[in-house]
Amino acid sequence: RPALSIRGLTKVYDNGFEALKGIDLDVPEGDFFALLGPNGAGKSTTLGVVCSLVQKTAGKVEVFGIDIDKDFSKAKYHLGVVPQEFNFNQFEKVQDIVMTQAGYYGMPMKEARPRAERLLKDLGLWDKRDTASRTLSGGMKRRLMIARALIHKPRLLILDEPTAGVDIELRRSMWDFMRRINREEGTTIILTTHYLEEAESLCRNIAIINHGEIVHNTSMRKLLKQL
Ligand code: ADP
Ligand code: ADP
Repeated sequence: RPALSIRGLTKVYDNGFEALKGIDLDVPEGDFFALLGPNGAGKSTTLGVVCSLVQKTAGKVEVFGIDIDKDFSKAKYHLGVVPQEFNFNQFEKVQDIVMTQAGYYGMPMKEARPRAERLLKDLGLWDKRDTASRTLSGGMKRRLMIARALIHKPRLLILDEPTAGVDIELRRSMWDFMRRINREEGTTIILTTHYLEEAESLCRNIAIINHGEIVHNTSMRKLLKQL
């Protein structure tokens, strides 16, 4: 059973714009997968549908075999999501933001506390744990969103442009962190990016989307041979 299966996904926005024109996509469990494409191609829309932030027009989406139309509340437990926009309470402290999320997923505090510490340390945020999130730099906020998304040990981590606007040094350390999560926790990771370099460095499989259609869906290795 794939981590994510998408069939015939269509999205027409309220203004009549067809952002997705019936896409099919399968992401096997354990994969590190990139959805690559230029701005406006439909990457965020696709991930938005999977996370139930965007309502689809037609098609079927399954997360570990769970139909999100039938049982999103169950699928949600398997999902960790890092959207593009910062969406946490700016006045809440870093550690509290992560712990609040743990509570939201019903995680026992005894389990959540050491995991929050581990994640914040690995992401270089432990020294900032008692700081209100609004004072963090953009790169720190992005890493806080990653810690928050991982607190409940999701089987599928979805990141929308995780390193957009991040300098090269920090980008490299975020890449190392994501690789480790994929390898050590077996977490399936799907990210969107418009940097081929990022997909190349991280991902095993790749889909290229353009104008709401998947134009390539192959392994990174095969794609690089074609170029
Ligand atoms: P990105 O390409 O980086 O995902 P966009 O500029 O496409 O960012 O979108 C930024 C935000 O604006 C998103 O929340 C998206 O839903 C919204 N948006 C984008 N295009 C339109 C549009 N034509 N009409 C209304 N909202 C839009
Ligand atoms: P990407 O993430 O690949 O940059 P998006 O999925 O954000 O692309 O957007 C795909 C297309 O849909 C873009 O042309 C964008 O302007 C349009 N779009 C996004 N959100 C909306 C919206 N709320 N209303 C109308 N059009 C939108």
